[in-house]
Amino acid sequence: MGSSILELMQRKIVLFDGAMGSVLIEKGLRAGECPEEWNLKRPEVILGIHRAYFEAGADIVLTNTFGGNQIKLKSYDLAQKIEEINRQGAQLARSAMPSDPQHPRFVAGDIGPTGQFLEPLGAYTEREFRELFAQQASALVAGGVDVLCLETMYDAGEVKAALRGAIEGAEGRPVFATMTFQRSRRGFFTMMGLEAAAAMRLLEENGAQAVGANCSTGAEEMVELVRILRRATALPIIAQPNAGSPVIEEGKARYLQRPEEFGRVALGLIDAGANALGGCCGTNPDFIQALAAQLRERR
Ligand SMILES: [Zn+2]
Repeated sequence: MGSSILELMQRKIVLFDGAMGSVLIEKGLRAGECPEEWNLKRPEVILGIHRAYFEAGADIVLTNTFGGNQIKLKSYDLAQKIEEINRQGAQLARSAMPSDPQHPRFVAGDIGPTGQFLEPLGAYTEREFRELFAQQASALVAGGVDVLCLETMYDAGEVKAALRGAIEGAEGRPVFATMTFQRSRRGFFTMMGLEAAAAMRLLEENGAQAVGANCSTGAEEMVELVRILRRATALPIIAQPNAGSPVIEEGKARYLQRPEEFGRVALGLIDAGANALGGCCGTNPDFIQALAAQLRERR
């Protein structure tokens, strides 16, 4: 079950889904509300978003569990619901999956960063991080995910602990990891100063079976980034750009790129070396549908 997503990535360009967070805000998620709690409070909304992504053509969707780790859930006073939130997140994505033997589809358990730092910068030990990522991974596996996807990672120490923990909890399922990079004059770096090619080697050394980049850049800028990643690793590469660069209006980031333009520009990621495409902030099922249409035309 789990290995076949890797096989699929060797055979064709795999289509991931688009954003969850920015879609939830459109659906009424309020500032200060826990997005992952909607797995329990508003399951029909989450199910609807997963269905829309599968209908748009996604081969794989990510669960609504980006912040489903102990540290983030505790900040919402929801630490006691960690198992339930992750398990239910996995089950919702599974139940949205259309059954079609001609078109295999998959569910990825989504794991984001804690928002905190390891010692000495922060208060946590490597072991604490590893254990809390293992805990989240186990709950996602219990809910029936095919693969675990670490995403939007930026810190070398945290992503190493996350990979170790996720692999522990994965019970043999593959673990993928994407990090988020900004462009500077000297290349692409995470906000913690980790360079993109070095990051890919770090992920590979620590057991990631597919690697890549998500968020922070639009597709155009990510083309250049993916070329760098391709030279650094032979693993399958996942590229999930934002819907262009945001403009700030009334303190809020707004993404103005249109789905058709996103789909057209994102195709360039394939020539740069990506094996899987999807969307991050500002994208929605229309963007994935536009990308699916571009991919069909390309064949
Ligand atoms: Zn994003």
